[in-house]
Amino acid sequence: MKGCGDLALFRRSGGIKRPAASPRAASVGGSLAVRLRRSACLGSFLWLLLLGYWEVAAGMGDGEKPAAGQAAAVEVRQASAAAGTERESSQMRWSIAIHGGAGSDPAKWDVDTQSARLASLESCLRLGMERLERGDAALDVVEQVVMALEDDPLFNAGRGAVLDERGGARLDAAIMEGASKRAGAVAGVERVKHPIQLARQVMQQTSHVLVSGAAADQLAGALGLEQVEPEYFVTEKQRASWQQWQQRDAAPAQVRPNRADSSANVSVDDPLFYLGTVGCVVRDQHGRLAAGTSTGGLLGKRYGRIGDSPIIGAGTYADDASCAVSCTGIGELFIREVVAHAVAARMKLAGETLADSADHLIEQVLPVNSGGLIAVDAAGNIAMPFNTPGMSRAAADSSGWLEVKL
Ligand code: ASP
Repeated sequence: MKGCGDLALFRRSGGIKRPAASPRAASVGGSLAVRLRRSACLGSFLWLLLLGYWEVAAGMGDGEKPAAGQAAAVEVRQASAAAGTERESSQMRWSIAIHGGAGSDPAKWDVDTQSARLASLESCLRLGMERLERGDAALDVVEQVVMALEDDPLFNAGRGAVLDERGGARLDAAIMEGASKRAGAVAGVERVKHPIQLARQVMQQTSHVLVSGAAADQLAGALGLEQVEPEYFVTEKQRASWQQWQQRDAAPAQVRPNRADSSANVSVDDPLFYLGTVGCVVRDQHGRLAAGTSTGGLLGKRYGRIGDSPIIGAGTYADDASCAVSCTGIGELFIREVVAHAVAARMKLAGETLADSADHLIEQVLPVNSGGLIAVDAAGNIAMPFNTPGMSRAAADSSGWLEVKL
């Protein structure tokens, strides 16, 4: 397959740079990775569509095989320690990871949805890779990639966001630069087309970190950022989900069970349990880190509710001395454990590796089915653990390694 992608599938855990599988992440993830050499030719997109079929089959369990023909054209290889070792020893110039949310089991999605998500993740990842290859700064790359994810209605951010209890899309986003530790965030915006762009402007044009609601939208207008009617964000699919939620779950807000009180309140088989938040973490050629996250929050969330994504240290964090992190999951749980900052703190204070620190938070601190995160450290290592059945994610580095998973 050389010259046309050296394409292989292999099993891995949520943390990328460790050959050893993380038991819980591996068992709930149950995933096959897509591994492509950077010399990927035009055929890679078609391959990716085929892989959508394989991923569905993979989610069914180890014993089950894809239907005849579905994966026939794909060279399949089991994970080997060598794959991890090879990457460990390669020269690292830049690394990037993105996510499109954790949550429901991707094996239950139809093949078209699988393929579309894989293709979108890959194209957003490649946008970031091109920019990193030409030497762009981590912060710029994070902003550009998250904007692209916000534009894609497949994800719960920007257009396609889930709707709150009033049936509107009210969006949260944050961005952070690891070198300066400057950060900007917005919460509950309804009109700025790219909330991540406004978050960056809050960081650069104001002396604040977090601006919310109508005032944030007004700021976007004053700064000349592109604005849209609130209806722009509302897709038919999300309107239908909201209607289902209203018929089924919309008790008066005072008596509504709090999903964050116990993961027992969450059924990952529930089609309304959808976490499609987007995020991006980057280590650029100059060793600078940045993280960004953008979301519509949780379906049916209380009007005015703010999740973890725009809370610096909870859903988003970056520090060049440790790592950059973007989380996805039940925000209240991530806020209470200050998850993104905790990943960095364990590295700095306890000397843990990125993989160990990230796994600890996801496997030991957070309850099962609460979400996942992506993170990159100062050396360019990447971790992507999650404790839900799936997490849409993609990652690459300058050694030529690339993977896309659901
Ligand atoms: N963390 C987001 C929130 O709670 C939701 C998600 O990740 O999908 O607002």
